[in-house]
Amino acid sequence: MAGVLVLAAGLVIATDRFYGHSTIAFAAAIVMLVIANAPMLRFNCPSCGKNAFFRGPFVVLWPCRVCGRCGHNLDDAAPPSQNR
Ligand SMILES: [Zn+2]
Repeated sequence: MAGVLVLAAGLVIATDRFYGHSTIAFAAAIVMLVIANAPMLRFNCPSCGKNAFFRGPFVVLWPCRVCGRCGHNLDDAAPPSQNR
C-alpha cells in the first residue's frame, strides 16, 4: 500500500516534469489509490468484522496483527486476495 502511494506520487511528479501539470496523471493516481484500497477495505477481522486497517479512529497502512475489537489473531488470517 505504501509502495503504491509512492508509485502514485512518483507518477504525478514524473508526468508533471515531462508534460507539465496534468490532471489526467492526477486522476490516474487517484484511481490507482482506489484500486489499492479496494482489497484493503475488505480485509476484515474474521471473528467480528472489524477492518484490520482501522485502529480506533485512525487508518493505518498495514493491518493490525491482533484485532483491536475482539483480540482475534489476524496473523493466521488469509491474505485479502484469498479472503473470499
Ligand atoms: Zn475482531
